[in-house]
Parts: sequence; C-alpha cells; structure tokens
Amino acid sequence: MAMYPSWSYSQSRAQTFDECLRKYYYHYYGSHNGWNPAQGSEEQVVLYRLKQLSNLYILFGNITHQMCESVIRGWMEKGAIPRPAYLETAMKNMLNDSYKESLHRELWQQDPKNRIMLAEIYYDDEVLTERIARIKERQHAVVHNLYRTAVWRELQQGEARIVEVEKWDTMLLYETKVYVKMDLLYRRANGDMVIVDWKTGKEGDFSDQLFLYASYVQEHYQLPLEKIEVRVEYLMTGEHEVYRPVQEDIDKVVRNVGRYIEEMKSCLDDDYYNRPKAESFFTPMPSRRACGGCNFREVCKYRAV
Ligand code: SF4
Repeated sequence: MAMYPSWSYSQSRAQTFDECLRKYYYHYYGSHNGWNPAQGSEEQVVLYRLKQLSNLYILFGNITHQMCESVIRGWMEKGAIPRPAYLETAMKNMLNDSYKESLHRELWQQDPKNRIMLAEIYYDDEVLTERIARIKERQHAVVHNLYRTAVWRELQQGEARIVEVEKWDTMLLYETKVYVKMDLLYRRANGDMVIVDWKTGKEGDFSDQLFLYASYVQEHYQLPLEKIEVRVEYLMTGEHEVYRPVQEDIDKVVRNVGRYIEEMKSCLDDDYYNRPKAESFFTPMPSRRACGGCNFREVCKYRAV
C-alpha cells in the first residue's frame, strides 16, 4: 500500500486548488488509502467515501457523455443510430436508477466507489426538487441537439474518420503526468483534426484544457497547429464555438499549468513522494458557494453553510 498518492495534474485539480485548499487536501491527500477500511484510518475511510459523492449535474453530464459515446460507437461499428425517443428513455431510466440507488445509504457506505450517492440526497439539500426539474428539461434538449450538431452531420455524411472516442492518455508537462481524454477526435478528408467537447452546462464554459488537448494532438499525431480545430458543442442550446488555437494560446496555457504545479508543489514536504504538509497548512476557504456544493461539509468545521 503506497503511503502517498501518485502525483499528476488535471484541470479539476486546479479548480479545487483555487476553490478551497482544505477541500483540495481532503480530496487529493486525506482520502488516500481510505478505499480499504481494513488498512486506512477512520478519517481516511470517511474522506474517501465523501470524495465519491456525485451530484445531479455531474451525473447528468456523465450520462450525456455516455450517450454521445454509445451513439458514435454504434455509428462506427454498425452504421446505425438509435431514435431520439429511445435515447431519452434510456437517459431517464439511468437517472431514475441512480436516484433510487442513492436512497440506500448503508449499501453505498459498503461500496462507495461502485455505487451512486447523490450529494443532494446525502445532505438532504433543499435544492433537490428544483434540480430534478431542471435536469428533466435538459434531458430532452441534449438528445435532440446531438443529432443537429455540425459534428454529427460531418460524421453521418462520411466526410470524417473517427480517431478517438473518450480515450485516456497522458502527456508530460514540467515532468508531471497530465491526463488527456477528449470526448471525440476525428479527421477530415483534408487531414484536419477536430477535437470535440460536449457541454451540458451553460454557454461560455470553454476551458483552457482544450488547448492542452490541441497541444497533445499536435505532438501525438505530428500535426501542425493550423490543422487542428477545437469545437465546443453546447448540447443544451444547440449552439457551438470553434477555435483554431495558435502557438501563443498553447504557450499561455502551458505556462499557467506550470504556475499551478509550482504552487501545488509548495504544499508538499517531499515532492518525490508527494508527501503533503500537515493538514493545518491547507487553509479552509469557506464561502456559501464553495461550501454549498462541497462533498466534505460533514467533516469540515469551517463550512459556511
Ligand atoms: S466545507 Fe467549505 S471550507 Fe470546508 S472544505 Fe469544503 S469548501 Fe472548504
């Protein structure tokens, strides 16, 4: 059993680091080894469990991504696609099953990694009913908008060849492993490659991470940057954004990652083993916004809600 977690960088790690340092500690260090109740301390076990909590928005995003992946794979392998009504029912069933699963707290406590527990149910949040209504509206939109995207048109017309679908890989930046997983990568007949990001949230949710993906494609597929397009598809509204990153964009994002890595490493006593400083070093940064959606509310005495 490794004493400390392995070191890597991701955009969600950087977001948590910005949001609240104590939350960052709980998520990336305090919960380590908590998956094994026989070996982890009681605190590690509780933190590990809380780390696994999901919420309705995350769940909906995951289910939508699964739907897009299965539609694209089905198209690649059989040339057939399911009807929107079928997809909508499948999504509805998956959401309902997750809701029902979340009502069994004891079963989740025994297997938090493989069972679903929604934070809204776990914490008995008053936002639950309102969120369910919002997700129901979004469900219909994302299914119908998927088939209306320009990406889908290109794929269906046989003008593009799919290269990667939700495939994990890594790249190295500042000797740090950075995980890469594009929702979809395809190649046009003229050799251009298109990185697709499906969004289920609000518009303007473009993330720097996509420029890192462009840098990965540039290196991994030995492609000039001018031949790489980044496409963000907002499935809720049917809108999209297209970017053609230039080297300056990539350099800026890479420098930014470097700054995060440096700051994160300043929270370590030993950066070879990824051994963190004491918990007290990770200052809680309570706010209604951060604490309201924080999985660790139960154990954090600094919470603002
Ligand atoms: S409850 Fe608030 S202060 Fe505590 S870890 Fe979470 S976000 Fe930070």
